[in-house]
Amino acid sequence: MITKEFELHVEGFAKSPLSSNDLKANFALGLAGESGEVADLIKKHLYHGLALDRAGLVLELGDLLWYWVALTQAFDLSPSEIMAANIAKLQSRHGGTSFDRAKAAAAKGETLADLD
Ligand SMILES: [Mg+2]
Repeated sequence: MITKEFELHVEGFAKSPLSSNDLKANFALGLAGESGEVADLIKKHLYHGLALDRAGLVLELGDLLWYWVALTQAFDLSPSEIMAANIAKLQSRHGGTSFDRAKAAAAKGETLADLD
């Protein structure tokens, strides 16, 4: 769960003279940018033969989380509400607490044969 301490941390550092729309765009672009940084670390580990930069991954996932929380705040959304909605969506789609390929296909009106 996202802690109140982290939410307050983001709230403090997210203060800016930018307009509301510019802040939202900044956070959305920041989220995309940090996702790229996470992907790049994993790419270098899996395909360039480098050792996993675990410390770097921790920092980049933190940046990613920061932008995610900032975006929730910019749109007055509750992280808890978002997490609960995601749990409900996946449990509904898969009928349990783990991924079920057939049920995922069925949720999209497809069969496993459609996916292969
Ligand atoms: Mg970063």
